[in-house]
Amino acid sequence: MSQPLDSSKVTIVPTGTPSAPIPNEKLRFGKQFTDHMLQVEWTAENGWDAPVIKPYGPFSIDPSCCVLHYAFELFEGMKAYWTVDDQISLFRPERNMSRMNKSAARICLPEFDTEELIKLIGLLLQQDKHLIPKGEGYSLYIRPTMIGTTNAIGVGAPDRALLFVICSPVGPYYKTGFKSVKLEATDYATRAWPGGVGDKKLGANYAPCIQPQLRAASKGYHQNLWLFGPEKYVTEVGTMNCFFVFENKTQNVKELVTAPLDGTILEGVTRDSILTLARARLDPTEWQISERYCSIFEVRERAQRGELLEVFGSGTAATVSPIEEIGFEGGSIPVPLSEGEQSGPLTKDIARWIMEIQYGKSKFQDWSRIVAEA
Ligand SMILES: *Cc1c(COP(=O)(O)O)cnc(C)c1O
Repeated sequence: MSQPLDSSKVTIVPTGTPSAPIPNEKLRFGKQFTDHMLQVEWTAENGWDAPVIKPYGPFSIDPSCCVLHYAFELFEGMKAYWTVDDQISLFRPERNMSRMNKSAARICLPEFDTEELIKLIGLLLQQDKHLIPKGEGYSLYIRPTMIGTTNAIGVGAPDRALLFVICSPVGPYYKTGFKSVKLEATDYATRAWPGGVGDKKLGANYAPCIQPQLRAASKGYHQNLWLFGPEKYVTEVGTMNCFFVFENKTQNVKELVTAPLDGTILEGVTRDSILTLARARLDPTEWQISERYCSIFEVRERAQRGELLEVFGSGTAATVSPIEEIGFEGGSIPVPLSEGEQSGPLTKDIARWIMEIQYGKSKFQDWSRIVAEA
C-alpha cells in the first residue's frame, strides 16, 4: 500500500538545547539555521513514511547513494514573515509546492499532496517561531529539498527518497535597502535550452552557473545576464527572472517586458506576482505588460535612443534587484536610475507592493497565508 504524505502522522522531537534568536544585525544570508528540521522518507514500496520534526543536524548517506552520482536533487525557496498583526505567513506557498512537484516528476522522484507539506511547514515554523526575525525586510528563508536515496550505482529511477526542510533566518538581501547592481551579459555559455530542465529547480542547473558569475565578478560586475541563441534573447539574471521597462514614444505608452515561459525560464513566484500586480494596478492606457522575447540588441538600441527606462531582477531572496548597467561585447549599456535613488520608479513601487502583501500591510487575493500564530 503506497501511503500518501500525511501531516497528521507527524512526530515532533524537540531540541534539548533551544537557541536564542540571532540579533538582526548578525544575520548572514543562508549561513545560520533554526533549531529544527522536517524529514520525511519515501519508498516505492510503502510510499510516504510518517513525517518527523527533529533537531537540525547532519544525516548520513551511503557513498553509493544515487543523489551523489546522478544529481537526483531538487529544491524550493520560500519565506515566512511576521505580519504586522503578529501572525506567521507564507507568500503564495501553493505555487512553490506545485513547482516542487513538477521538479520531482521530471527526475523520477515522488510527488506529494501539496497542502500536507504546507501544513508540515506550518508545524515546523510553529516549533521555531521565536527564531523568525522581526522587522521590515527580515524573514525566515525556507528550503524544502528532495533527494533520491537509492544505494546503487546503476542509473535508474530511485526507489527511495528523502524530503527535508531547513530554515534560515535572513535580513534584507541588500543591507542598506535597495542597491543597484551591474551585470555582464554572458554569450559564451547557456543556462537553459528548449526541451531541457532550466524551468525546474533542480540542483544540477546551478553548479554550472557559478563559473560565468565568477568571470563577470573578475571584471567588476555583480552578476551575469543569461542570453539565449543566435538572437541573444535575454532570459534571466543570475538566478532571478529579468524585467525591462521601455518607453514607446510614438504611442506614448510604457512597456513592462519579461521573457515568456517557453521551458527555458524558471517560473518565478515573484515573476508571476509582478505580472499580476502590474496588470491589476498599472493604468492600461499608459502601460503594456508583455511576456515576449527581447534581445540584448533591442535593449542596447533602445538604451541608445533613450527608451530604456528600468531593468530589474526578481526572486524570493531579494524580491526585486535593480540593475544600473549591463556590460555587453566590451561596451556598456547604462540604465537610468531615479535622481538620488538606487532604482527607477516602477522597480520601487513593485518592491513596495509585494512587501506590503508579504508583511500583511495590504491584502491581495489569498497571497499571504497564515500558517502559524504568535
Ligand atoms: C528560484 C529562481 C527564480 C525566482 O523564483 P522565485 O519563485 O521568484 O523565487 C528565478 N530564476 C531561477 C533560475 C531560479 O532558480
